[in-house]
Amino acid sequence: MSSSAANLTDTYRHKGLRRELLGKLRDMGISDERVLDAMDRVPRHYFMDDAFVHFAYDNKAFRIGAGQTISHPFTVARQTELLALTEGAKVLEIGTGSGYQCAVLTAMGFKVHSIERQKDLYDATTPFLKKLGYRAHCYYGDGYKGKPAFAPFDGILVTCGAPFIPDALLGQLTIGGRLIIPLDDPEVGEGHQIMTEVRRVEETKFTRQTHGKFAFVPMLAARSGQST
Ligand code: SAH
Repeated sequence: MSSSAANLTDTYRHKGLRRELLGKLRDMGISDERVLDAMDRVPRHYFMDDAFVHFAYDNKAFRIGAGQTISHPFTVARQTELLALTEGAKVLEIGTGSGYQCAVLTAMGFKVHSIERQKDLYDATTPFLKKLGYRAHCYYGDGYKGKPAFAPFDGILVTCGAPFIPDALLGQLTIGGRLIIPLDDPEVGEGHQIMTEVRRVEETKFTRQTHGKFAFVPMLAARSGQST
């Protein structure tokens, strides 16, 4: 994420690079046109440091200091698509980070709540999203606990690699709602996760589906464990 005004110009070149990226995402299997359209409308380079701006439309993730990362565009597209939600849905994001995924969710027309556990990121990203006109509700807090005051959510999207499925998040889903969470798994090794979709089909009944291997920064503990 950058708060430098110098970056906040969306040129024809940027737009062209974004179109190319969308083509690649389509080739990689992203088929939800609403997701691609939202990503077309969010200038990813706004969320990156000046030094990385030239790479903004490469299909790559970046670590940009202080544990700050901006997810891989394919990852953002896939996770957003997996929520399978329509305009007006209420979504909780865990891990605001640069704010890029949050902006894409907002551009989808969702009512977005987003939690970040690093104070410096929260302090930088919250006003930045506002400045860009993305009306998300950002919180400084512990994602393991979710946001009970605003539950239930039609979708919950975790953007850091989780060691387990926090019970609190399951309890904050609507019936029919989905939790999209990258889960650590010894099979895929350290630093990688299996994208997992958990759907609340009844009050106490959940179904689970997996969607392949991804790489995320870790979801940090949570001294207070899984409590709500
Ligand atoms: N969605 C972000 C990706 C951020 S990377 C983007 O599009 O840029 C993951 C983020 O999760 C990091 O900012 C990290 O600080 C945050 N995070 C890690 N553990 C967390 C927790 N327990 N609760 C909330 N945020 C957490």
